[in-house]
Amino acid sequence: MNSSFDISMIKFDEKGLVPAVVQEDNGQVLMLAYMNEEALEKTLETGFTWFYSRSRKRLWRKGETSGNVQKVKAIFYDCDGDTLLVRVHQTGVACHTGTYSCFNGRRLDAKNENGVALISEEPQAPLAEVLNAVYHVIQERRIHPVEGSYTNYLFDKGQDKILKKLGEEAAETIIASKNMEKADILYEMGDLWYHCLVLLAFHGIVPDELFVELMKRRSGGSYHQFTGKDGIRPDV
Ligand code: AMP
Ligand code: ZN
Ligand code: ZN
Ligand code: ZN
Repeated sequence: MNSSFDISMIKFDEKGLVPAVVQEDNGQVLMLAYMNEEALEKTLETGFTWFYSRSRKRLWRKGETSGNVQKVKAIFYDCDGDTLLVRVHQTGVACHTGTYSCFNGRRLDAKNENGVALISEEPQAPLAEVLNAVYHVIQERRIHPVEGSYTNYLFDKGQDKILKKLGEEAAETIIASKNMEKADILYEMGDLWYHCLVLLAFHGIVPDELFVELMKRRSGGSYHQFTGKDGIRPDV
């Protein structure tokens, strides 16, 4: 970590606080919380995030009850020193509601009186974002079960049920493919991917770990041969 970090560069507000944007290593924004001088010092000393809770009026070590700690990779401050950017590696989920990030797709929509969007809608979300969003819903169901939820049904039944469904959806994808039915392929593969995410959640693995695993195979050096166990061609 940055040991030359000079705390005197930081401007704490009249309440002695500075907002800290917490960002995962890969750039995803996880949460915003406040630090006072002591929280910042403890963060620098321990290498894990500490904050000051404005509602509880006390110092708070992130993960103290949930176990979802944040290992600090770097701390940046902005142009006028009144905001911190804390880059971390998040264990588990960052939000106390059970989602990976506190920002999970809830959006303020601005429309004029004719219902026309004043803020341009985002282009199609990147795949990682979509998978993260589905994963967040799965995690949320786990933490706050919903009556009649299929996700809760799977978790209640346990791993064998999840694995059985995964196999079934794979088989249905195969059949759709054999039938050359695009709509069915999309539908069944959607089911398959959903069940994959449920299985990840069952093991407490976040999608980012899967993305890292997949990206490794693109960066050269670590490919298996075409005939190797994962069947990925070196040139794709
Ligand atoms: P944790 O630090 O994850 O053990 O959570 C302990 C408590 O800190 C929670 O019950 C919340 O009150 C609060 N908390 C944790 N994470 C967040 C967050 N991302 N945003 C707001 N409050 C949080
Ligand atoms: Zn500036
Ligand atoms: Zn600023
Ligand atoms: Zn949150």
